Amino acid sequence: MDANLSVPKSCYAVINNKDDVREQSSSGGAFSALADWIIARGGVVYGCAFDQNTVARHVRVSDSSGLGRLRGSKYVQSDISDAFAQVKNDLDAGHWVLFTGTPCQVASIKAFIGCGCQRLLTADIVCHGVPSSDNLTKSLKTELDDAVVESLKFRDKRYGWGTKGSVAFRKGQNRRVQPFTPLNSSYYARFLEGAMYRPSCYRCPYARPQRPGDFTLGDFWGIDGSASQQLDARKGISLVLVNSARAARLFAEAFANCRCIKRPIEEAMNGNDQLRHPVLPPAAWKYGYVSELESFSSMQADLERRNILHYKKWQLKQLIKKVLRK
Ligand SMILES: Cc1cc2nc3c(=O)[nH]c(=O)nc-3n(C[C@H](O)[C@H](O)[C@H](O)COP(=O)(O)OP(=O)(O)OC[C@H]3O[C@@H](n4cnc5c(N)ncnc54)[C@H](O)[C@@H]3O)c2cc1C
Ligand code: SF4
Repeated sequence: MDANLSVPKSCYAVINNKDDVREQSSSGGAFSALADWIIARGGVVYGCAFDQNTVARHVRVSDSSGLGRLRGSKYVQSDISDAFAQVKNDLDAGHWVLFTGTPCQVASIKAFIGCGCQRLLTADIVCHGVPSSDNLTKSLKTELDDAVVESLKFRDKRYGWGTKGSVAFRKGQNRRVQPFTPLNSSYYARFLEGAMYRPSCYRCPYARPQRPGDFTLGDFWGIDGSASQQLDARKGISLVLVNSARAARLFAEAFANCRCIKRPIEEAMNGNDQLRHPVLPPAAWKYGYVSELESFSSMQADLERRNILHYKKWQLKQLIKKVLRK
């Protein structure tokens, strides 16, 4: 086993005690609890936010009011930009740093900084893969008919704990907010099918129980019925894996503002394929195992054609429904 990965020492189902924070989070709001705790001790947090063009980027946040941008899963590759250099500056200046991201990003920051730094705390997310940023930008443009996207949520708790989101966009003078789901977005459907990830995601070395982060955060899919009831699964429950000895020491303090129930690790593993193996491209997917950048670009081109068809069909259905309602 890679010496930089740790076998989880314990596993918890976690919900943030602040209802509004849990509402804005994809799962139970465990990320925000950890981030608030780091900030309260004078530290800074790095995580993924959308910029004004709906491009996902890693940004630095130093006060709790800025954490809103990091909340929620952005199902696309996050641009690391100069975040690693900024992390180093913060550590050199004596700050505590919480770095959150996909396991490959967490492994990279640890390799860049060196594992001995005690002030660098990391949390990796359970990750099934990411499409490129270009793919999202082009898909939104096609699916929303060139509208200007103001905000995009892949997970909107108004629809419960699941994979239904919402998008706010502007076309001329008209502003609209509508559901963004695998049923009306070909991008979202293909994301969940695992049909368009970066080639490396199909052979991800981190889709396993051993983890690169001090903590691992995910959705506690497959949580046992009674624990699910106690924590009210309709509002989302986070999975927190405690991986390093340091994480085990800090857990009680860092998650003091949460309700936590200890669970068997096997329960988390059974409910989450990505803790066992990488995603396989769908069997019917004609490109099969995508290993060459060249075939990836032709896949992208094919997807775009299919996106247009899918969107036109969806538009036609909406039109028929509208006519029937009249
Ligand atoms: C691409 C992707 C795939 C995922 N796949 C799974 C899965 O298969 N199974 C599962 O249990 N959970 C998965 N998750 C994690 C899950 O959706 C939640 O992010 C996680 O449970 C944390 O939720 P929370 O309520 O604690 O906090 P939230 O506030 O919802 O989480 C925000 C955290 O996610 C990070 N983040 C958001 N988007 C990205 C991104 N694009 N790149 C890097 N970091 C990002 C932020 O930096 C922040 O740390 C995935 C997340 C992403 C982004
Ligand atoms: S699936 Fe693996 S390689 Fe792909 S983004 Fe997630 S951690 Fe990185």
